[in-house]
Amino acid sequence: MVLLTDRTGRFERNFPKPMKRAKIVIPLLILLVAILAIVFREWRKPPEDPGTWTEEGAWYKGNTHTHSLWSDGNDFPDMIVDWYKEQGYDFLALSDHNILSRGEKWMPLSQVEKRRKTGDHGTMAHYLERFGEDWVETRGETGSEEVRLKTLEEIRPRFEEDGVFLLIEAEEITDQFKQFPVHINAINVGEPITPQHGDSVVETMRNNLRMVKEQSERLGRPILTHLNHPNFHWAITPQQLAEVVEEQFFEVYNGHPGINHLGDADRPSDEAIWDMANTLRLLVHEAPPLFGVATDDSHHYHGGEVSPGRGWVMVWAAALEADQLVEAMQKGEFYSSSGIVLKKVEYDRGTRKHRVEIAADEDVTYETKFIGTRRSTPKVTGEVFETITGKEAEYHLTGDELYVRAVVTSSRPHKNPSYPDQREQAWTQPIGWRK
Ligand SMILES: [Zn+2]
Ligand SMILES: [Zn+2]
Repeated sequence: MVLLTDRTGRFERNFPKPMKRAKIVIPLLILLVAILAIVFREWRKPPEDPGTWTEEGAWYKGNTHTHSLWSDGNDFPDMIVDWYKEQGYDFLALSDHNILSRGEKWMPLSQVEKRRKTGDHGTMAHYLERFGEDWVETRGETGSEEVRLKTLEEIRPRFEEDGVFLLIEAEEITDQFKQFPVHINAINVGEPITPQHGDSVVETMRNNLRMVKEQSERLGRPILTHLNHPNFHWAITPQQLAEVVEEQFFEVYNGHPGINHLGDADRPSDEAIWDMANTLRLLVHEAPPLFGVATDDSHHYHGGEVSPGRGWVMVWAAALEADQLVEAMQKGEFYSSSGIVLKKVEYDRGTRKHRVEIAADEDVTYETKFIGTRRSTPKVTGEVFETITGKEAEYHLTGDELYVRAVVTSSRPHKNPSYPDQREQAWTQPIGWRK
């Protein structure tokens, strides 16, 4: 302690040897503590306000919520991957309920066929037609035949291509508290995660998120989690979503028709939930807002209601690699879509201008709403600040906004709507919240 208070150095000559060593060791320790403090602060830093995006990059289209025969989907994982790649997706996460596509799994053909909702050809017939007998593996007697589901590791080499198509390992951690489903997708996992349960909705969310964080740190890989379909069985309230600040993402759009996307007379829509939760986060919990993802949650691949291709994310990343995509999304460098393509999403912190540019199609009109909550009227959540028609839209922040986000809606009906009168849309992430 003397060394810290005495700056003259006059004690130095009289110190016995151990104290001389201490004179070197203590400043080194102080330096080490300082470095650790900086590292800790960096690690704890909330996600960046998406104002300064990585300059070098490209847009990558992906779906992070997909089911296959590995759980309750009704087609083979390789057939599903084939479909998404053919449709021009750059990446796909197969996210079955509480299971990874690993290990040996055989299914009776009768069960495979039973999963079909519509269609005149058998699931097995389609599978054989597409991949042939060299790839498809069956066993057993006629009448009690079984087929083996391919693992992710078997599927990868057949479809993955550098910079063109990537598969990311994922799981829908499917938990519940009482009658309330608590489903969280974990993207880029390295091991399966068992649902952790809890004594409330909030605790159930927290316990599962804690397991993901533990795995992410232990394996040294970024894992993205998104809270799924909050209105499914009216399970998750905006207050709960706001409170669990460990979660950074939720589904602002999920293509499953049964998830109450629009809310009802008494309960808020997914978009309204977003604004309520983000207002609470910024004002009460002093936490960053949630980012909104759009997904398919596809289960049916031969017709049927829960079909693929309805919602996706467009991620601005330096490369088509799982870690880079996850980290770009954690920084908020993405938008969500159910049909609209954006050329640019910009926020200039200096001029405080938020701008979106739409890859417009002819004969289609686009309406951009800039939505947020004002500091001066925080009870009015999700106020529409401005509505602009055209293929470019800009909003100049006044300084009163807690945050601003843009939602673009086209005049064109959605190709495969999940609710009546659905239009194509795009959702940008909240900006202007980082002071
Ligand atoms: Zn779910
Ligand atoms: Zn699902």
